[in-house]
Amino acid sequence: MQTFAAARPRSEALFAEALPHLPDGVPMLWMAKWPGPWPVYVESASGAHFVDADGIDHVDLCLGDTGAMCGHAPPAAVAAITAQLGRGSTFMLPTADAAAAATLLAERFGVPSWQFSLSATDANRSLIRYARQVTGRRKIVVHDYCYHGTVDEAYATLDHRGAVVERRGTIGAPVPPSLTTAVVPFNDVAALERVLATGEIAAMLMEPALTNIGIVLPAPGYHAAVRELCTKYGVILIIDETHTLCAGPGGMIARDGLDPDAVVVGKSIGGGIPAGAYGMTASFAALVRASLDLEDIDVGGVGGTLAGNALSLAGIRATLSEVLTASAFVGMIDRATEWTVGVQAAIDEFDVPWQVTQLGARSEYSFRRTPPVDGAEAAAADDFELQQYLHLHALNRGILITPFHNMALMSPATTAADVERHTAAFREAVAALFA
Ligand code: PMP
Repeated sequence: MQTFAAARPRSEALFAEALPHLPDGVPMLWMAKWPGPWPVYVESASGAHFVDADGIDHVDLCLGDTGAMCGHAPPAAVAAITAQLGRGSTFMLPTADAAAAATLLAERFGVPSWQFSLSATDANRSLIRYARQVTGRRKIVVHDYCYHGTVDEAYATLDHRGAVVERRGTIGAPVPPSLTTAVVPFNDVAALERVLATGEIAAMLMEPALTNIGIVLPAPGYHAAVRELCTKYGVILIIDETHTLCAGPGGMIARDGLDPDAVVVGKSIGGGIPAGAYGMTASFAALVRASLDLEDIDVGGVGGTLAGNALSLAGIRATLSEVLTASAFVGMIDRATEWTVGVQAAIDEFDVPWQVTQLGARSEYSFRRTPPVDGAEAAAADDFELQQYLHLHALNRGILITPFHNMALMSPATTAADVERHTAAFREAVAALFA
């Protein structure tokens, strides 16, 4: 704490200036969950680095928790966004970039019909509504310890008796979550079938691997079973690739040949500006469209005034065609492999009871010996104090890890030297704790 404080007087001053009008000195409360006495205020960023208000260079392995997986200020996206900004940014009318962006997404994720939003949260919300609309059912099913944005229905976990309850920390739930949501453990096919067989479920909303409670990978055959059960019970299968886009240019859907009815992406696809998108199969999209009257299309609960704005679409088109390209993913995944090897080496050297799991360009360690098979196992390994220590240790060495996790993400701009900086610092931290 003393090292942090001594190095960051300018951030301390900005914190003092912010406090009268920003609770905890931050514009969005999550940013308060920092490990030092005040947040690190950012001055500028480029590629895989940012410089803070005190002039300290950081390797950024958080990358805006995936919002900047494309790297900070990627030149091709900045050029396209800046050009569009000079021509106007929002019209309630399409530009040529809209169809181009939708085509790029269709090619990557294999579903043809796309709509745009400002966030992945809102994309998920829209698809849940559409699924209810076409199935006439009310409930959705999610995985225990999932995260899909600030979607009311997804704030549900299982208690020790297997009942659906509010997730710890839920703020102001509108109704008890058991009214809207069924919850199943990740990788549990039998539990999923029991829930779907009730006939109450409109949609299954899932990440193809959990990435928000550590990384939990699907067991062999899990995705095939999920697809089969959703088809059997007429449930719309929504795969949320917001984070798992790290697995490759078409996420885990393209990498592993998954077959959803609908897809959600967001965060980094706009090159750093707000953008979300949701894709549908032709049959699902046709059912949705046939159920809507033009006269009422603006009051149905799906949309948003700035959704699909020209700026977001320019950003998506440039980011997908020039930044997050297939060849960029090769380097990103190589960097994540190097990072994983570095973390594993320290775990082995000091015989630490931790494990590390890689998913494409993302990797994460957790405080248990074996990879978790479901969200509850992953959650049980949480240790907030230890996590804060490791984050602060890293920050004091100019490294930012994703807050709320022990996760690292690689951008096209991340170098082997950036990874090496973490490897050395991580070994030092582990040695301090275990040697
Ligand atoms: N889906 C997943 C899988 C996510 O991880 C997140 C954010 N962490 C979201 C949706 C929501 O993204 P946003 O907060 O940008 O709406």
